[in-house]
Amino acid sequence: MILETDLGKFCVHVRHIRNESTRKTEVSIHPYPCVSQQRPCGTITELVGVSSCHPKDAFDKAKGRKLAIERAIQHLSRDERKSIWTAYLGKHPPSR
Ligand SMILES: [Zn+2]
Repeated sequence: MILETDLGKFCVHVRHIRNESTRKTEVSIHPYPCVSQQRPCGTITELVGVSSCHPKDAFDKAKGRKLAIERAIQHLSRDERKSIWTAYLGKHPPSR
């Protein structure tokens, strides 16, 4: 998905991995667009976050995605994180 934040566009890739031994969600976030050669500044690297589902818990895609994003952006500044969450929640409003 592409998030349009007030700091610019970000590309967010979400991958749910679900098999017999693993249930996890991987998220990578980087400035838009996808192709690194098209980023002339080359200053911002990709941010990656992973969340794993406990074997006893139900696999919840929305929850896994949120947690993985949280981990991917945890080292950004408060303002950057806020912009990304605002854009994300605009696309994925919390169910309650
Ligand atoms: Zn991309």
